[in-house]
Amino acid sequence: MRKKVIAGNWKMNYNLHQSINFIESLKSEILKKERNCDIIICPNYIALSEAYRIIVNTPIKLGAQNIYFEENGAFTGETSADMVKSAGCEYVILGHSERRTIFNESDEIINLKIKQALKHRLKPIFCVGETLDEREKNLTKSVVKYQIENGLKKINYDDILNIIIAYEPVWAIGTGKNATPEQAEEVHYFIRDLIKEKYSSDISDKIIIQYGGSVKPENSRDLLSQENIDGALVGGACLKVDTFIQIIESC
Ligand code: PEP
Repeated sequence: MRKKVIAGNWKMNYNLHQSINFIESLKSEILKKERNCDIIICPNYIALSEAYRIIVNTPIKLGAQNIYFEENGAFTGETSADMVKSAGCEYVILGHSERRTIFNESDEIINLKIKQALKHRLKPIFCVGETLDEREKNLTKSVVKYQIENGLKKINYDDILNIIIAYEPVWAIGTGKNATPEQAEEVHYFIRDLIKEKYSSDISDKIIIQYGGSVKPENSRDLLSQENIDGALVGGACLKVDTFIQIIESC
């Protein structure tokens, strides 16, 4: 039985003070009762170490939104796996569609970042998903297959279960238009099957596959009740404590 994982991707929102206030309020809500799922927050870099100080010894875990694939050195503006790990991160989002499109990250770069994260015992939340144009051309499965095959190139059996896969159709991210539970389930089933082919049926049974794309309290219960949907990567709706908590509750 896979445990559901709800992660909040804050993107470029909230300064340090706003982040601290938000995490304090989230923590007090989370501590009110025991929950049935793992909870991850991914604030901006500036807030990571303060976030860790607030959430340490609570069920909330910390993730970064990106890392660079090199160890250290002359890479102005970049942040290493070791740095985010030292700030208290256990997870890192990699391959997000905004990184792929706005910052031109290729599958090869994402693969290097995944390997670098794993080397530092950070768990990647590895995002894949098709654009609207690709869906309309019936290319969803081939696009997702290409992203999975290349993103997970040379990732071995020992490491694969330290990765969470997030299926995020690009047309559903930040648009308010989520995939239907059936559309999402079909791709999640397909991804699980790819993992079975590439690794084993035991690994494919255990790997966590989240859905992301306009998840909100109104649709989270239906999405999360699908057999192969093991959680959610939440953007907009994680920026308010009450909506994030309602999504967590729907586990
Ligand atoms: C995301 O950024 O990963 C995301 C899913 O955003 P939203 O929930 O706002 O669509």
